Amino acid sequence: MNTRHFDPATELQNSLHTDQVFGVNQSISDSATFTFEDGKQMTDTFNGEHQAFLYSRHWNPTNLELSKALAAMEGTEAAWVTGSGMAAITSTILQICKSGDHIVSSMTTYGGTFAFFKNWLPKYGIEVSFVDITNIEEVTKAIRPNTKMVYTETMTNPLLQISDVPALSTVTKKHQIKLVVDNTFTPMIFSPFKLGADVVVYSMTKFINGKNDTTAGSICASGDFINSLIDLNDGTAMLLGPVLDTFRASSIHKNLFTLHIRMKQHSQNTMFLAKKFKEIGLKVNYAGCKDHPQHEVMGRTMNADFGYGGMISIDLGTKEKASDFMSLMQKRGVGYLAVSLGYFKTLFSNSGSSTSSEVPLKLQAKMGLSEGLVRYSVGLDNDIENTFSVIKSCLIDLKLI
Ligand code: PLP
Repeated sequence: MNTRHFDPATELQNSLHTDQVFGVNQSISDSATFTFEDGKQMTDTFNGEHQAFLYSRHWNPTNLELSKALAAMEGTEAAWVTGSGMAAITSTILQICKSGDHIVSSMTTYGGTFAFFKNWLPKYGIEVSFVDITNIEEVTKAIRPNTKMVYTETMTNPLLQISDVPALSTVTKKHQIKLVVDNTFTPMIFSPFKLGADVVVYSMTKFINGKNDTTAGSICASGDFINSLIDLNDGTAMLLGPVLDTFRASSIHKNLFTLHIRMKQHSQNTMFLAKKFKEIGLKVNYAGCKDHPQHEVMGRTMNADFGYGGMISIDLGTKEKASDFMSLMQKRGVGYLAVSLGYFKTLFSNSGSSTSSEVPLKLQAKMGLSEGLVRYSVGLDNDIENTFSVIKSCLIDLKLI
């Protein structure tokens, strides 16, 4: 399936509506609870026979507005917003799986997700098989009668592999199981639901908010799935309570409307660096390069106009070299030696010893994660040529090129 005609930025812009009382921005709901006209209305609301806000952990007007915007951007019926990306991921998984179930997951995922799969779920009788998500045959073979979902990231952290969502969706539909996709690295660039995923999760801490001032997450899916998550009796989100605060929801909502411009600039800057890094002989991993193993998959499944994204990595061979290089880049103002991504300043980290440190060293080696990998989240620099010159000077002074 080609989604080139799906334009998440325009869908998002069209989701705005006027409010003559509060003005152009949505007002912030400052209430944990809501009033009912009488006892009957309260009973009917709790029975689901009357639609009203009943308690902010369930729904509130501010989170509802942000959720509607996210659903418009993803092409889903509904969405729900959480206090972190991990809250979105864990609520989704625990809603779909119970003790005795099995999950097939990409071997390469964010370290926190990997640790949840490897260390936490088995305590509650849920087993996970880790596979090379780019190998559809391996994914298919790992599915068992008790498998409930295939889990992946559209662009995996930190190897930057690209999942072929339409191909995975064909497999999950055939087996009548769910395909859950984390699209944190590539909002707007990919629309996984349009490509056949059942649930799309985000760490909105990253590109979607883009300001690194809060953690947040979201779950985008069918109306039925979102309603099941907040069911008063057994909804995982309702009962574990990971709801996003309304003040943060309001600020993320405003930042969402510049996301398309930011993604284009992140992509443009990163493509520039990818070409320059190659010219000076570095080992580069960027999905926009023709030699990236899933460059073709990305070209076939990405939306038009937003580029190949802001994530790139280079391999310096050893942890020590990576460490010296990152310290010098920070000293010279390239950006910050920090985990996370999607910020307006460039961030860089050594994945194996930070955001993927939960992955045992043996498995890191098996998945091809070099100890010298430096992962960049490229910022919105206006003068990326100058940024490259500074990076090059760091490499030369440390005798890395
Ligand atoms: N998903 C991906 C791909 C991530 O990189 C991260 C964090 O780095 C998360 C999820 C977790 O998000 P949060 O830190 O907002 O809980």
